[in-house]
Amino acid sequence: ESVIVAIDGPAGTGKSSTSKAVAAALGLSYLDTGAQYRAITWWMITNGIDVADPVAIATAAAKPAILSGTDPIDPTITVDGVDAAGPIRTPEVSAKVSAVSAIPEVRTALTDLQRSIAASAVTGIVVEGRDIGTTVLPDADLKIFLTASPEARAARRSGELKGAGSDVLATKEALLKRDAADSGRKTSPLAKADDALEVDTTELTLQQVIERVVTLVEQ
Ligand code: C5P
Repeated sequence: ESVIVAIDGPAGTGKSSTSKAVAAALGLSYLDTGAQYRAITWWMITNGIDVADPVAIATAAAKPAILSGTDPIDPTITVDGVDAAGPIRTPEVSAKVSAVSAIPEVRTALTDLQRSIAASAVTGIVVEGRDIGTTVLPDADLKIFLTASPEARAARRSGELKGAGSDVLATKEALLKRDAADSGRKTSPLAKADDALEVDTTELTLQQVIERVVTLVEQ
């Protein structure tokens, strides 16, 4: 039968790298829900919608057609048929995504989409985000909540960004600001599900985290 793995936690904990590697190792599909929130945010910006205007965002929430490719080796994202993988990683999108993703209509649209993608995964799927274990897929077979010290998270994120060559503003400060916004909002705050297993990655290598999660799925 199909296995559902939920991986939640803040940015810089190795969530994406871990989720992709675990999915690839186990022959499962992979879904990056943060990329979908970024994609909606990018659509709002390019369509001239003021992200400080909750009513405007709510009204437009269902308009963009977001398509996620779920191969962990080559995950893709398009918005209205346009490849959005690059544009969703800019500092502007990073700075505005918390506000857009706090709007209930945005969350409803993406939660519905995420559930239908998970339901159609043949062997199963690894879904990463902030509210997967608590809200999107509360019946997941395994829930992991990744954490790391703020220093470790900032260091990892700036290492990633050097490689990507963009998003230079995403310093420790920007990252912590986004976490605070994600944690403090009323709609779907970043939270650990009661039945999630917490893995502190501060002192672990990526390979160790992957092995730990693969072992947990196989148990
Ligand atoms: O995972 P990533 O850091 O790319 O996510 C970008 C933003 O999308 C988060 O900071 C959060 O505001 C939002 N998000 C969310 N719920 C999710 C995934 C991401 O609200 N399940």
